This record gives sequence, structure tokens and C-alpha cells, in this order.
Amino acid sequence: MEHWNAELESMPWRDVERWQATQVDAFLPALRARSPLYARLHGAASPRVADLADLRALPFTTKDDLRTAQDAASAGAPFGANQGVPSSAIVQALSSSGTTGRPLYYALTARDVETFTDAIATVWFAAGIRSDDVVAHLVGLPMVAGGLPYADGFRRVGATLCWLGGFPTERILADMRRLRATALLATTSFALHLAERWDEGGRETDVASSLRKVLGGGEPGLHHAEIRSRIAAGLGGADVRETMGLGDVLPSMWGECGQRDGMHFCAQRSVAVELVDPATGDPVAWREGATGELVYTTFARDATPVVRYRSRDHALVTGVGCACGRTSPRMRCIGRTDDMLIYKGMNVFPAALRDVVAERFAGTVQPFVRIWKERAGQVRFDDAIAVDVETLAALDDGARARLGRAIEAEVRSRLQVRIAATVVAPGSLPRGTYKSPLVAVRPTPPAEGKPDAP
Ligand SMILES: [Zn+2]
Repeated sequence: MEHWNAELESMPWRDVERWQATQVDAFLPALRARSPLYARLHGAASPRVADLADLRALPFTTKDDLRTAQDAASAGAPFGANQGVPSSAIVQALSSSGTTGRPLYYALTARDVETFTDAIATVWFAAGIRSDDVVAHLVGLPMVAGGLPYADGFRRVGATLCWLGGFPTERILADMRRLRATALLATTSFALHLAERWDEGGRETDVASSLRKVLGGGEPGLHHAEIRSRIAAGLGGADVRETMGLGDVLPSMWGECGQRDGMHFCAQRSVAVELVDPATGDPVAWREGATGELVYTTFARDATPVVRYRSRDHALVTGVGCACGRTSPRMRCIGRTDDMLIYKGMNVFPAALRDVVAERFAGTVQPFVRIWKERAGQVRFDDAIAVDVETLAALDDGARARLGRAIEAEVRSRLQVRIAATVVAPGSLPRGTYKSPLVAVRPTPPAEGKPDAP
């Protein structure tokens, strides 16, 4: 069996965690001296880490902590209170995409670049990229986490890097044919967009497609059978694999192997990962079917390291161990902890609800839903959760009602959650990319009999 980091990828997971504990134990004592952020967060706490479970003695790091650290930026330390090295040792800056609010910046030393490249190459290899691949890298911004670090990973594997991200779609479609691209990496929504226009490239160039592999990432949703098959079909039957990472930690850490049943953790050489209950912070064991928030510790990071970083990514563990020989846990990201709703004390993820409806009723309904809240900020539901589902074809009232009841029963049996499904006509739900919000606030109906305000 072929692995990139053969020893660590096939070592029993318990042994990997023990080895990581020794690395974390060596990393932590110097951290407080290097990083004012961790001097403040960890204070006098300096637990011995003989086992990753000992990390529980340390507080979590949140995105807000990183923002506060960034706010302390100065001429001598442009990366703020978590700049763990002198500026002269930094060879690269990265930023979050910053689609909402000010971007966060991350710094890399030469050793950090090497750490990133090794981990990302491990992910690409697990996801099927080999040295004879010609890879179209379709992330458009070199400065973001998915830019230069991803490119470095492809070159490390030995593949031919074709960085086409940033060109107009027409140019990408034509260049991929002319360069005989065998693989592409794109966000889920851009891969969907390309799938719809793929044949244009063939007409433009008169070159047959060489594309066989698609790596998707940057957004959740690729584990969704409907989305995946739409991408695969549009791109000539390509083998679609999901990958995932996080700019705050390491841009690609999880990759799907040939079993296509969840993404393996592939950054074991430099990052420790914990699964925790988002409400209590208590650890959750890695076992098939477990869910929890992913928490990361970068024990080989010089410049902006993180310890027990709350990713807000909520994972469903699809297995530990695998027919591919990799021993690391496998998971699917089922949503953001921030999106979580609570129905009678149970955690409900809008994306999980959507997936149940879309999978069971594929061919009848659209693969997206709209969940209604009564007010912004509502998290708890004691009554059935109102959900709109859109059909592909127009149905009569009786058929719509029957479909609604069937959807309610399916969600109740799969998720133990009561919903009140309203089946709406084709074209009724707001369109947009796959990332359209799943949850909306129901507009307040005008109060009856009340005169209009002057
Ligand atoms: Zn596997």
C-alpha cells in the first residue's frame, strides 16, 4: 500500500498520539516565552503532557483570541501577540480570505513552510495525486491559505503544477485541455460551476479531456452524494475526493482515500487533533459514529502557532482504521458548531438535516432546504422545526402533502428530530451557490387590525 509518510500513516493511532504527546510536551514550555498570547492564555499552567488527554489542563484558543492577538500588532511584530519569532525569521505571510470582517494574518518561517508542504503533500497523495499528474490549481489568490501552500504541496508530490486560478473561466477551460490536465483542485462551488461548462473547453480547443481526478475543498458539502455525482458527471466521470484544512492551523490536513468514506487526518507529523463536545468542551473518543468539534494543536510551528484551537468545524467520525492501511481517524465535516440548533436538548446541524432529505429523496427534491427560525439568534426549538423543501417537478396538493409527511418521518427516524416540512413548488427557494444559508428568519406577519404607522 502506498502512503506518503509511510511510518506515521500506518502506525497504530494510539502510538501516533503517544509520539505526538512527547512532541507537544517539548513544544509547550518555550511557547510562553515566545508568544505573549500564550503567556497570557496559559499563565502559570505548565502541565506535563504524557498523553494528549493531559492537554485538558490547558484552555482552548478561539478565533477571538487570535483577533485580539492580531490587534496588538506593532512595527516590531506585525503579526501581533502570537508572532513567535523575530520578523527576520519570517519568510511568508498568509491571510484568511476575510470575506467577513478584517482578515487574520499568519506567518511562516522556512521550517513552517516545510511543515506545511510535507503535511499538504501527504493529503494530496492520500487523495490520489501522483507524480505523473498535471494539476490545475484553481484557487485564485496566492496569499490565502489555499494559495501558495497548496501549490507547494503539489510540487512536493512531483505533480506538474498549473496554477490557473484567477483566470476567467473560459481561459481555465481551454488551458486545462491544452495542458492535458489530469486533475484539478477547486472549491466545491467552483467545481460545480466548471462541471456545468466543461464541454465548452472541448469545443474551444478541439482537445479531448485528460481529466480523471477532482480534489474539492474549502467548503463543506462534497460528501453529499448529489453534489458529488453532479461534479463527477459534468467533468467526464472524474474521481472526486474531498479535502479539508484551516488557515488558522494548516491549510490542508484531511484527505479522502480511495475508499471514499470520509477524510483521513494526514497532518500527524505536525498537528495533534482532538474531538470535543462543543457545549461542554469534554473530550469525545474517536470511534465510528461519534460527532464533535475538531480542536488542533500545532506542535511544530515557529511563527503563529495554536494550542487547542477551537475550529468550530463539527465532524462525524466515519471510521478509525481503513482498508487503505491508514490508521488515522476518518471524518466528514457536517457543519459549523456556530450553526448548531438544539431540538429538545439534542444537537441538530442544518447541513445534516439537508443531507438526510437530499439523499433519501434524491430525484424528487432539490439538494437544499430552508429552515425557519422565529427570530434571529434562536437556537433552541421545542416544537417541530419548520423546513421548506423544493420539488424538482410540480406536484398536486395531495402528492405534496404525502411527500411532506414522508420527509418528516425520514428525518425523525434518522435524526430523532421532529420537523414540519412544507413542500414548495420548483423555483420557490432562493438560489445562489451551494453555500447559500440553510437557515432563515421568518418575517413577522403584520399584526391584524393595527393601523399603519404614520
Ligand atoms: Zn483510507
